[in-house]
Amino acid sequence: MSWKPSERLMQTIAHYASFPPTGVSLRQMVQFGEKPSTGTLFRASQFLSEELPVRLAHRVEELTRLPDGLNEMTSIKKVRDWYAQSFEEITTLPRPELDSDTRKRLLGPPKKPANKLSTATRNPSLKPDDSGNGSGKAGLNTRRYFAPLDDGQDWPPVLAEYNRKFSRMLEIIKRRHDPVVTTVAQGINEWKRRQQRMQIDSSIQSFLDRFYMSRIGIRMLIGQHIALTEQSSHRHPNYVGIICTKTNVKELAEEAIENARFVCEDHYGLFDAPKVQLFCPPNLTFMYVPGHLSHMLFETLKNSLRAVVETHGAEKEEFPVTKVIVAEGKEDITIKISDEGGGIPRSAIPLVWTYMYTTVDTTPELDPGFNASDFKAPMAGFGYGLPISRLYARYFGGDLKLISMEGYGTDVYLHLNRLSSSSEPLQ
Ligand code: ADP
Ligand code: MG
Repeated sequence: MSWKPSERLMQTIAHYASFPPTGVSLRQMVQFGEKPSTGTLFRASQFLSEELPVRLAHRVEELTRLPDGLNEMTSIKKVRDWYAQSFEEITTLPRPELDSDTRKRLLGPPKKPANKLSTATRNPSLKPDDSGNGSGKAGLNTRRYFAPLDDGQDWPPVLAEYNRKFSRMLEIIKRRHDPVVTTVAQGINEWKRRQQRMQIDSSIQSFLDRFYMSRIGIRMLIGQHIALTEQSSHRHPNYVGIICTKTNVKELAEEAIENARFVCEDHYGLFDAPKVQLFCPPNLTFMYVPGHLSHMLFETLKNSLRAVVETHGAEKEEFPVTKVIVAEGKEDITIKISDEGGGIPRSAIPLVWTYMYTTVDTTPELDPGFNASDFKAPMAGFGYGLPISRLYARYFGGDLKLISMEGYGTDVYLHLNRLSSSSEPLQ
């Protein structure tokens, strides 16, 4: 039996959706340090129990209002209900009773007077206008939630117990949302068939960009918190949650090359996939989420290898080499993936950024267990590789660009912002 949101829950969701999401920067996320204390974790959980419902609520509202009957597709409704259910779980998790001393410690030293708990602004009994800035659209004060907490002393056990419960709840939610990308894709496919459309238009494209970008952000916050909770008891050097403060570009690139070549050999039945040459300073490290970087490298490399094999023919003994060049600047780390796979006609360039655009004839079966952020992905065929990789790049202030020379090859530029002080992009 599937879960259905009540009328009342939908009203609460609409209320939360009237607040803007609050962006967090990579810098802020690492302020927790390598071994967060119980108090710090608790404060982070309080931020999430405010912020996640706002973000989930926006997605529920948007899914409910999709145009031209897309909102009526079974798969879309299923996804909407997952978002609503997760919203309900977070907003109804009972908070611990805290003595006034603990509350004071959690607030930290008083800085500004009337630093009011933003919880009040989310309370459904208050009208949105009560937040005091006229528009009623106040974001959360991330500086307060993310400031490191000076807490040498012990915290009451209820706090640690709540932290564990909160993290367990997030794990369940994260797992529930694993199949979101494929399920939405299924919904769009059903709808395209029903509407007899070949391509998705720009309004659906920008919905998907927003939706998947928001998903990256939500999963980042959730993944970060779950990992931080684990690290509060087992320290993991160089890691703050899922952020690695010393992400080694060369090691990740080598691994991605190996994986992409393996998938390529498997797919085309090749003994030896086209070679990839890597030019990268061996000790180049920066602060990033290794999982995101691996994803982008793997997807772009698979595209290059496929183009090389299909342009030159799988029966070729020797293929032109694909080059991966890593440059270290002050502002950006740029990775160029340069192939001789025949390029892309100029007229098709805008299409490669649209979801579900692929030049693979038979789309592989959509496996509901498949998750765009896993690495079980097949060689090609979903048309999600480039658009999702670009979202990952943009999420931390970078970008992904593609320049093609039709008849010769393609250069993909992956720009990664190493200052990482920019906040999450939230529309
Ligand atoms: P998929 O790989 O599943 O088809 P992508 O979003 O990764 O989806 O790529 C979309 C399309 O862009 C590919 O089907 C291919 O036609 C084209 N493409 C991407 N990268 C390259 C490349 N390096 N060389 C030639 N064509 C490419
Ligand atoms: Mg691809």
